[in-house]
Amino acid sequence: MSLTLTRSSLAALNQRFRGAPPLDVLGFVHETFGERAALLSSMQRAGCALAHMADRAGLPFDVLFVDTGLLHAHTLATRDALVAAHPRLRVVTLTPAQSVEAQTREHGVLYLSKAGQERCCELRKSAPLRATRGRYDALVGALRRSEGGRRGEVETFDLDPEQQALRVHPLAHTSDDELDAYIAAHDVVSNPLHALGFPTIGCFPCTTPVRPDEDARAGRWRHLAEVTYCGINPTDGGGGDPTITLDDRYRAALS
Ligand code: SF4
Repeated sequence: MSLTLTRSSLAALNQRFRGAPPLDVLGFVHETFGERAALLSSMQRAGCALAHMADRAGLPFDVLFVDTGLLHAHTLATRDALVAAHPRLRVVTLTPAQSVEAQTREHGVLYLSKAGQERCCELRKSAPLRATRGRYDALVGALRRSEGGRRGEVETFDLDPEQQALRVHPLAHTSDDELDAYIAAHDVVSNPLHALGFPTIGCFPCTTPVRPDEDARAGRWRHLAEVTYCGINPTDGGGGDPTITLDDRYRAALS
């Protein structure tokens, strides 16, 4: 037997954990899914804080990190620092099928146009994650409502139809101030680009710092006026009525 989930079928679960500390959500996910759950981190501050919380609570999640081959050296160094700081977590670096050089020979420099960006993000971000489909039933991310934009109403529990997995955001209701306080109190590993004016961080050709008067995501794909999200987080895609199918053994926990 299998368990089919829709967004409306997650309403009771979201209600149950509304206002719960992030650690309670992490504990629930680990108890429910065990090693079939993983954190997904791009080595930004919220993802690093989640990894710290998990390790501090003795929850040995895998941490999935997509190395597109076009990341800042600071981000790779943050990955290495996280590995050193949290040896009980298994950091798994996912990579695209093609090197940047091979992709450029075949397709040209994709990220310079909107259509090319969609293809590039698909090849270098979404596809490496999709290659793990079937390995994990829950992916834990770091989206927060206080980021605004398409994340302004993100729920703690959501669906990922591409991965056929639950997407979980333990920090959905965590404010900027609360996140900053946790990071400062616990000396969390943090990407140094944040201190250099980057509120959010992606690949170096598509990410710039922002001015104080700009939106936090203004530095993402600044050269492509209408692009602000890459698609690796299905929640950023907005509405629709996705469904996922999981093993029936999760029915009691997710009802
Ligand atoms: S963010 Fe830019 S460089 Fe990175 S995968 Fe997307 S289009 Fe390519």
